[in-house]
Amino acid sequence: MEGEGVADARKNTITPKAVINSKFGIKASYVVEEVVEPSQDGCPGLSIPGLSVPGFSIPQKGPSSYRCRLELPDFSVVSGTFRKKKDAEQDAAQKAVDKLGIRPSKGKPTLEEASEELVSRISYLFSDEFIQIQHPMSGHLRATLRREGDHCGLFPISVIAACDGKASSLCKQIDPKVESNPSLALSFIKLAASKLSGSLSSPDEKLWIKRLNPYPQDILESPIDQESCHPEVTTVHALYIPSLMEEPVEPINFDVLPSGYYMDIIAEKLRISNASDLLISRPIGRASSETRLYYAAPEMYWSEASSSLEIAESCKDSINVRATYLSGQDIYGNAILAAVGYTWKSKDLSVEDISILSYYRMLINKTPAGAYKLSRGAVITATLPLAFTTKTNWRGLLPRDILNTFCRQHRLAEPTFNTSIVQIKSSSELSGPPKELRTMKPANETEEAEATFSTSTIDESAESGSAYLCEVKTSFELSGLSKKLRTMKPENETGQADASFSTSNIEESAESGSNYQCEVKILSKMQEVILVCSPKESFKRQNDCIQTAALKVLSWLNMYFLDMKAEKAISSTNTLDITFNPKHLHEEFKLCSSIHGYQQRNIQEVNNKICQVNIEGPDSGISPTPGSLVSITYSVSLVPDDGHAKELLESADVFEFEMGTGAVISYLEVAVAQMSVGQSACFFIGIPDQELILAASDDFARINSLLNSNPCCLEYFVKLMHITEPLEDGMEQAFFSPPLSKQRVEYAVGRIRQSDATSLVDFGCGSGSLLESLLDYATGLEKIVGVDISVKSLIRAAKVLHSKLSKDSSTIKSAVLYDGSIIELDSRLCGFDMGTCLEVIEHMQEEQAHLFGDIVLGSFRPKTLIVSTPNYEYNVILRGSSAPNQEEDADEKSQAGGQSFKFRNHDHKFEWTRRQFESWASKLATKHNYMVEFSGVGGSHDIEPGFASQIAVFRMEPPPHSIPGDSPVSSAEGVIHRCNVVWEWNPSS
Ligand code: SAH
Ligand code: MG
Repeated sequence: MEGEGVADARKNTITPKAVINSKFGIKASYVVEEVVEPSQDGCPGLSIPGLSVPGFSIPQKGPSSYRCRLELPDFSVVSGTFRKKKDAEQDAAQKAVDKLGIRPSKGKPTLEEASEELVSRISYLFSDEFIQIQHPMSGHLRATLRREGDHCGLFPISVIAACDGKASSLCKQIDPKVESNPSLALSFIKLAASKLSGSLSSPDEKLWIKRLNPYPQDILESPIDQESCHPEVTTVHALYIPSLMEEPVEPINFDVLPSGYYMDIIAEKLRISNASDLLISRPIGRASSETRLYYAAPEMYWSEASSSLEIAESCKDSINVRATYLSGQDIYGNAILAAVGYTWKSKDLSVEDISILSYYRMLINKTPAGAYKLSRGAVITATLPLAFTTKTNWRGLLPRDILNTFCRQHRLAEPTFNTSIVQIKSSSELSGPPKELRTMKPANETEEAEATFSTSTIDESAESGSAYLCEVKTSFELSGLSKKLRTMKPENETGQADASFSTSNIEESAESGSNYQCEVKILSKMQEVILVCSPKESFKRQNDCIQTAALKVLSWLNMYFLDMKAEKAISSTNTLDITFNPKHLHEEFKLCSSIHGYQQRNIQEVNNKICQVNIEGPDSGISPTPGSLVSITYSVSLVPDDGHAKELLESADVFEFEMGTGAVISYLEVAVAQMSVGQSACFFIGIPDQELILAASDDFARINSLLNSNPCCLEYFVKLMHITEPLEDGMEQAFFSPPLSKQRVEYAVGRIRQSDATSLVDFGCGSGSLLESLLDYATGLEKIVGVDISVKSLIRAAKVLHSKLSKDSSTIKSAVLYDGSIIELDSRLCGFDMGTCLEVIEHMQEEQAHLFGDIVLGSFRPKTLIVSTPNYEYNVILRGSSAPNQEEDADEKSQAGGQSFKFRNHDHKFEWTRRQFESWASKLATKHNYMVEFSGVGGSHDIEPGFASQIAVFRMEPPPHSIPGDSPVSSAEGVIHRCNVVWEWNPSS
């Protein structure tokens, strides 16, 4: 799904962008713009009265696509439109390549071609022409000419190998091993220089190249060179990273004089006599950054046979673990980390400061949790959440983006996400043998994905009979892990959970429509599979599916990284649906354990003030529940035991997180769970990994001395500012499996299938969740109607129904969606076999709910009517605390500035107790001559506090007869049309 095909095809050839880049460098500029295409999948039959545009099509923002304009010095080209920015850029580059008539060599250049090209590149770098242009290499060239004494004009080969993109990529083409062993590149460049012995000199065992003939004087005096005589001293703030882990990383500052060469000064700091013996790593962090490691070339010898540079075995002892881990290249001996160099943009030396803080941030950014922490700007307080609930409640980088960052940081290939659509069979043959599920793949998926999925057939069909309950439990254990983690369930968890599962008999198997499943693969740069995660769960939304799978991988990697006990990660392999290749994994991450948590072991025992939460301020009664989005103000300080002044480490005025997901350290989450809005709290905890503390504060010297001189602890101050209640939907999903909304729909579907109804009207159909699900089952229905006052929802319903009806051969002969209020008469809604009204009445004022009852049973008179509404008493369970009675709520409501915290959804005007609901329904039934029975979903009728959603099923008393005062509006008595048809289906059209 990631357009792997495209990437694969490109892997072995030079991309058009690369061709343009080698020709134009920064003179080529790409401008990508988003193209919003109106969606093409219009929905015939849809008409919105009041909108006068004929042939009105749904104003839907299609998935965005991109177009790219490539501007070159002489002309510009515009790409076609693409889903991905990078594809648009490549297309633009291709158009430019075509226009320029460049024929990129097919496939890889041969070894000879690459070697020859390297020779000509080196020759060009030392030409009269090159030193005059603006290029990072020419900056170095000019600076080497200013070197003193014997060193004047000696150009370090390592600069070419590391900083000249063209030369270094040619070296990689000669031998891909250059990627991991950059010193190999030195030998290729030396070899190339030796072919130019007429003009260049590079004696054996020397790591420099010198131009034999001096540059003509007029070139050196050209304006470009004069300008580069920067009048001021440049101070570089860098870091010294000793090879010995026991020695601390320390700041190191040095000045570069206008007349000096910075390489000489770094060499001096590393006690190397000649800057040419200095090696340079690839850039660390951002690709555009000049942050690199400088270190002495290890003792080397020229292997005569291959004339390649090899590192003596003895050097292996002095590997610099921290530097190697940071760069992903083998680095030996002491190193200096500096962001200094010549760039494309200026003739002057460009410098960025590197502090110890930035060093620790670079380190923790290599761990999945660290990348998340940084993205939240809360390295001490935030933790990688255990579950992805909804995109709206997620804060910080999304799991998928963190995983991409992680792979980039570790120089792995971009992770691949393969989503597939799981078509879940309707359970119309419940008693038959379990059916295999069809797994479908989206059209653009690769062969490979198909192969993977054909082996993963899933059987979710229900088994009937007594084995059922246990079956459901098993599937809960498999799929419910994240749900369990993210809900801080009330004490009676097991009882409740069992109860809700025992009612979900039909529901679990009767999953309707199609869901997504996602498989994530982590590959090494060499395309070896390191890890695969194939979650068994499927999701309605593709994004949820991808993010959840990415998060599983991240959680697993995090355990692997930080707990250092691989067994722990391995034991969670099952629950996180992960398989991995231990050998490759070890190869890629072998240094992690020597880096992360290294300092943890040196930390002194902490004192005893730990974790007494002192809460202050009056209890406002507004407390968070699992799934609430809370907003806090907090600060964390480092407190030394000896009474010295504390040091602020981290703070935020507004920090939001979702309760119950583990998005912050557990102490904080536990503290906040006990607080109400307006209260503040203070508590002390032990010191976390020292790496995190050093990544939080920029006063390294002070923090370090505090940490080293005293036992310390962390002091947290937190104030709960605001709570956003979980959306009803989120809450229902967190507590019930299947989600309560689905259980309601399934309940209604079950009743409909038991009946012989041929016509159905869904009052307050919303986005059509019930109508849509109905189409997945064999029913006797021929005519279905939905009514709602939300046109937005109706449009969504229309689209879903339209696409479903167009695909399926169903018994439905007519389907209509009306925009209208269900408390107004409309003769077209009369005389249906079945009426449904799920979770609608609580959205109206109580009087209107009574009015609806009278209209529907008195005038529309369906043979059966199913009404569901929340059971207020059940909110105790959903809240995990005792619910205040309704009168107290009323007070609170005014206190909280009109914000209601008592109902499951902000739009609810009321929620009834069982008694209130039964009274409403019974009176109605008697009045209009119906029978009524009560039921529900979620929870159980005989365990307090009853069902989560209460349901009344009204049935017309046989024989149907007219009650005085009840007047079904029939065509005979005049047609009343108050609703507007929004969409209409009929199969012949
Ligand atoms: N029955 C749907 C939607 C429930 S949400 C489901 O179970 O998914 C409640 C719906 O009632 C909303 O779509 C809202 O627009 C609708 N509604 C509220 N008052 C209404 C009224 N007076 N007439 C028609 N629909 C109404
Ligand atoms: Mg509702």
